Amino acid sequence: MGSVANGIITETDVVVIGAGFSGLYMVHSLRKFGFNVRAFEKAPDVGGTWYWNRYPGARCDSESLTYCYTFDEQLFQDWVWSERYPAGPEVLKYLRHVADRFDLRQHFQFETAVQSATYDEVARRWTITASTGEVVSTQFFISAVGNLSVPATPAVKGIESFQGQWLHTGRWPLQPIDFTGKRVAVIGTGSSGVQVTQEIAKTAAHLTVFQRTPTFTIPLRNMPLDPDYQRLWKSNARELIKKTRYSDGGLPFFASSTPLKGQDPEVVEQGLEAAWGVGGFKFLFGTFCDVGSDHESNAIVADFARRKIASIVKDAEKLRVLTPTGYPLGAKRIPLDTGYFQVYNQDNVHIVDLKENPIKEMTSGGLIAGETEHAFDLVIFATGFDAITGPLMQMDITGRGGQKLKDTWADGPYGYLGVGVPGFPNLLTLGGPGGVGVISNVPPTAEQAVEFAAECVAYLRDHNIDEIEATTEAADLWCEHVHAEAFKTMYPYAPSSWHDGSNLGKKARPFPAYTPGFSKFRRICDNIAAEGYTSFKLHHKGEAGSKANYKAHDPEWYTKVVQAPSSAELASWLEKSPMWT
Ligand code: NAP
Repeated sequence: MGSVANGIITETDVVVIGAGFSGLYMVHSLRKFGFNVRAFEKAPDVGGTWYWNRYPGARCDSESLTYCYTFDEQLFQDWVWSERYPAGPEVLKYLRHVADRFDLRQHFQFETAVQSATYDEVARRWTITASTGEVVSTQFFISAVGNLSVPATPAVKGIESFQGQWLHTGRWPLQPIDFTGKRVAVIGTGSSGVQVTQEIAKTAAHLTVFQRTPTFTIPLRNMPLDPDYQRLWKSNARELIKKTRYSDGGLPFFASSTPLKGQDPEVVEQGLEAAWGVGGFKFLFGTFCDVGSDHESNAIVADFARRKIASIVKDAEKLRVLTPTGYPLGAKRIPLDTGYFQVYNQDNVHIVDLKENPIKEMTSGGLIAGETEHAFDLVIFATGFDAITGPLMQMDITGRGGQKLKDTWADGPYGYLGVGVPGFPNLLTLGGPGGVGVISNVPPTAEQAVEFAAECVAYLRDHNIDEIEATTEAADLWCEHVHAEAFKTMYPYAPSSWHDGSNLGKKARPFPAYTPGFSKFRRICDNIAAEGYTSFKLHHKGEAGSKANYKAHDPEWYTKVVQAPSSAELASWLEKSPMWT
């Protein structure tokens, strides 16, 4: 591997960007296949989203025993989690442990951003330029940049005149901030806003939350992890992890198969009440199977959640502002909470409806919303991210014929299987447009994407193929299928959501995530790999030009290959799974 030298071109097989869940495992997997790998990370250390999102209260909404790697049995058995849901620092500690345990840091260059990447159509290689001035020539370019890594701070007039401190939850400073006695604003009520609000309300003198869209929440019900439960889980790990790998949401329980429709209302109420008591995403996926697909069933569950809010918030005006109406529950990624609505019963916590009182400007002492000037010491933007395409669009990526990725994605995310973009050969975008990552539990989804990419590039090398490219035909058919499937769910009915870019006022065309589920997505990818990636355009070394040798699949094929497997088929797939071999 070449050393870092300003302006000097070094050569490698694969460049990876990002040191989060995907990037770390990507580097590990490529090394196992014998590739030379160079990896770049903007942050000074590993962790990805968990490096940057250090705001008070940051915690994962997936249970800790499901929010971890499964590729290495000993790692899974050795790591001991302390809580049912891991706090941000614990996930960060885990990822640092993984980097050390597998000696991955040696491949990464930290505090280094990739600034540009240009494809050389003759050499069939990428030329990557880093912020250090280093230039790397690589055959494959794999982005593991995460979907939520570019914070979106609204362009508020006068922000530079504010004499207090303003922060974004997604770029929290390393030094903890003491809120005791401070006047604090939180703008945004997504998962980050809910978590930071719950925490800051404990010490701030005054906390005002500025809300654009009222949110539903489900109770998290965090607790210390019972050692017996953890032991029991680990003794059944193989079975649970197999279930995870073939589950709908990357979680080791299969979704309910009972529809709400047609049930006795009393049975429905009891079922919802029981799931509410357990907390977590089971409330959404484990109660009734049609909550995410049938608007009438969804309305019943949404009404249940609204009644829960009404039972907590005592002040009638606050309750009016906080109550979510007019959109289905789960259409936006629902936050899990620990006493979120309860904090509004404190006299020092206020809510401002931004639709009635839009923010006009920030002043030296605070901000003006509607006709009211509010005084603050700290303003916290929990306003989310330029999701999915944002991180790659920050780089100057030039593909075939001088085509810029930012032009290709100007109207929204577009890609094939979340991994390929027409016009950008040998670029693999883990968890990219058309993938399943944004609506599933991250670690198993990241593992699937990494394994698909690693096995793909190893296959290409072993078959003398030096170029792979998603075709427009394949991507169009895939996007058409993904879009049609999304409209069988609640996702497109969100008033605004980072899933489709409408949080930033731009609506993606088409919907960028495969909604039928992780298991089906895995089966599609497995079938495509088994065919030898022939739904991509492949170029064999030494051939003149590119052959039109690909075979794009149509929606009928996608529907067929995801039919429920027989138990014999499932058993044989699980046998073949790379897990712990
Ligand atoms: P988010 O879900 O996109 O929420 C952003 C919030 O800011 C929304 O309430 C949004 O309002 C508001 N907002 C955006 N632009 C605004 C503007 N110009 N003016 C006023 N308000 C504005 O972002 P997030 O809360 O950071 O979460 C993003 C995702 O990260 C989550 O959905 C989740 O997948 C992940 N996450 C997970 C956890 C966890 O596991 N516990 C924690 C944090 C984040 P609208 O609703 O009207 O768009």
